[in-house]
Amino acid sequence: MTNAPPPPTSAAQSARTILTRLHEVMAARTNAQSKLNQVVGIIGECLDSEVCSIYLLREGALELYATRGLKQEAVHVTRLGLGEGLVGTIAEQIETLNLDEAAAHPDFSYRPETGEELFHSFAGVPIIRRERAVGVLCVQHAEPRRYEEIEIETLQTVAMVLSELIANADLVDTAARIDAGETDQSMQRLSGQKLVDGMGAGIAVFHQPRVHIEHTVADDIEAERHRVYAAFDKMREQIDRMASQAEFGVGGEHEEVLETYKMFAYDEGWSRRINEAIDSGLTAEAAIERVQQRTRMRMRQIDDALLRDRMHDLEDLSNRLIRIVSGQMGTAAQVGLRQDSILVARNLGPAELLEYDRRRLKGVILEEGSLTAHVIIVARAMGVPVLGRVRDVRTSIREGDMLLLDAAAGTLHVRPTQAVQDAFDAKLVISQKRRASLASLRDLPAVTKDGVPIELMINAGLREDVAALDLTGARGIGLFRTEFQFLVSATLPQRERQQRLYRDVLDAAGDRPVIFRTVDIGGDKALPYMNVDENALEENPAMGWRALRLALEREGLLKVQARALMEAAAGRTLNVMFPMVSEPWEYEAARQLFINQRAWLKQHNKKLPSAIRYGAMLEVPGLIETLDLMLPHLDFLSIGTNDLTQFLFAADRAHPRLAERYDWLSPTVMRYLARVVKMVAGSKVTLGVCGEMGGRPLEAMALLGIGIERLSITPAGVGPVKAMIRSLDLGALRRDVPAILAHPAANPRGQYLDWAQKHQVDLGE
Ligand code: PEP
Ligand code: MG
Repeated sequence: MTNAPPPPTSAAQSARTILTRLHEVMAARTNAQSKLNQVVGIIGECLDSEVCSIYLLREGALELYATRGLKQEAVHVTRLGLGEGLVGTIAEQIETLNLDEAAAHPDFSYRPETGEELFHSFAGVPIIRRERAVGVLCVQHAEPRRYEEIEIETLQTVAMVLSELIANADLVDTAARIDAGETDQSMQRLSGQKLVDGMGAGIAVFHQPRVHIEHTVADDIEAERHRVYAAFDKMREQIDRMASQAEFGVGGEHEEVLETYKMFAYDEGWSRRINEAIDSGLTAEAAIERVQQRTRMRMRQIDDALLRDRMHDLEDLSNRLIRIVSGQMGTAAQVGLRQDSILVARNLGPAELLEYDRRRLKGVILEEGSLTAHVIIVARAMGVPVLGRVRDVRTSIREGDMLLLDAAAGTLHVRPTQAVQDAFDAKLVISQKRRASLASLRDLPAVTKDGVPIELMINAGLREDVAALDLTGARGIGLFRTEFQFLVSATLPQRERQQRLYRDVLDAAGDRPVIFRTVDIGGDKALPYMNVDENALEENPAMGWRALRLALEREGLLKVQARALMEAAAGRTLNVMFPMVSEPWEYEAARQLFINQRAWLKQHNKKLPSAIRYGAMLEVPGLIETLDLMLPHLDFLSIGTNDLTQFLFAADRAHPRLAERYDWLSPTVMRYLARVVKMVAGSKVTLGVCGEMGGRPLEAMALLGIGIERLSITPAGVGPVKAMIRSLDLGALRRDVPAILAHPAANPRGQYLDWAQKHQVDLGE
């Protein structure tokens, strides 16, 4: 017969009894060791366990700090490495073990000095701080038996409180040493997808800083319950608002994520478990974290990618709830960057990124992200390297860790060793040299080896971007995204503000042309201050009420912009371009609006632009069917390959899972573009490409191969693309491209790459 104790009436009650007693111990003015001795005594007694021990991580090993039931001589003597023995396994795997026969477990490691051979059953839980194990709390029993679920729960709750106590210098003299923040300094290497090229070093700053829970034991349970109720209400409100405003719409998966958010936010089981944790004596913050820890542990055992994603969502929501309950709601941008930093986020909106100080922002790490999402375009314009699709961010990186980002290599070094840091610095010097040699191309013409001049312009969107004209030696601005001003403003920019920006840009550009694109709002560029009811329920914002569609219906908006542009360009040539034209009548309506505004200005004796050139963007594939009808009325046509390809492939440009699925060099894109070139040839319309595609040397080469001779690209691309152009025999390429288009290989990229290598084209790689 076993003398197993009767199970406690409820996990909450037994935890609460222990927590109340622990509270008293901690408040007492005794030294750390005697506190720990009392703690193991209380836990052992309350759980009726013959042994209760606490192991803490010290100098990389788990050291027995206190025990009731094992031999006292073993205290501070028995040490187990991470992964060694049951205790080391619990800490390494961050998992709970509940065994009726400890010695039968493959990881069991016998330590004679402890006298533990007397005990058969074993249960241990990790003591976690900042998602890392800093110790292990375990109980043992002479009789073989499994501990009840509620006893395990109690141990886990107690472990949580212990983690607060351990971090508190009162408990352990050298608390700092056992805090995971200090002990685990090992380097980690994470990999991801290059979204914006470049290298950067800085400390890790989380876009949404993690709240550190300071108090885990509740003084007033009723008050804690109220705090958590109120926080749930607020969180649900926020989620509902997000859903209705599409404010969250920065990632392609946002619909799915929002649905999951909603599901969790309204999940009774989740709120019930948090309330139970509060009943056991925890504060609201600690209760939310406690439930989260439990879920994390459970999910760790399930190998299912989909579930892991959902887990991610629950983590997000849990963090949000903790931030609400603790009143710490701001993003890192509001606090400001204090030194060179690398920003870490799940995903970001373009406006959110723009809130950071460009001088100190050295890189961005995203758990999601895709090449043509607007936040990436903004980052590219800011010259900030971005690595996307990085996994295990939360478990591998801590706030303040040193990070080295090498986007081209697709790697991120966390807490680098000196050797890695030195290698990184050396590579940085080489890349700076390469940049310097590209910069030396600045004043050289973009002409192919066989003498064909190529017009290289830059894409811009902010006042500061214009400086890139001088830095790169570009011929002008081929795409000025006017909506960026709208995105960074807290309110709708009025005409004067718009006009000031346009004038500044034109002044800075001097005699170099600037093509202003009228606002492309909507899609992933939602404006929080603009009341777009009609947009509220959009399921497909990228294909929805955006860009010219919105501008033509919000005529006031477009009229104001037209006036601002014309007044800013008084006495000079104004180049204006309309986004997302789907049918000729839309272009005609927009052009007519400008003509009317011009007439109005003339009537009011305002100074007018010396000329207005009108253009359209080709982003909607269907426009090709009526392009011939539009050509006579167009001055120029600019192909926006970002949107064009998402519509050609029916693949959301911001969807992280689709980011690498389709290639710009695929025959689908290249043949389509070749058709457009053919249609436009012979007309007076100038044709160019202004999507991200043109900013990559190999893609740019392919575009030249099918007859494109004007590119507007991200400023960072000008040097590398110019180097490619100057090393290219365009005549030879044009002779060979028809064969590639006619007989595309399974990997068309390889075909262009082979050609480039064979003909010694400088692709900079
Ligand atoms: C495009 O779609 O290719 C483009 C240049 O416009 P944006 O990226 O701003 O949508
Ligand atoms: Mg576009």
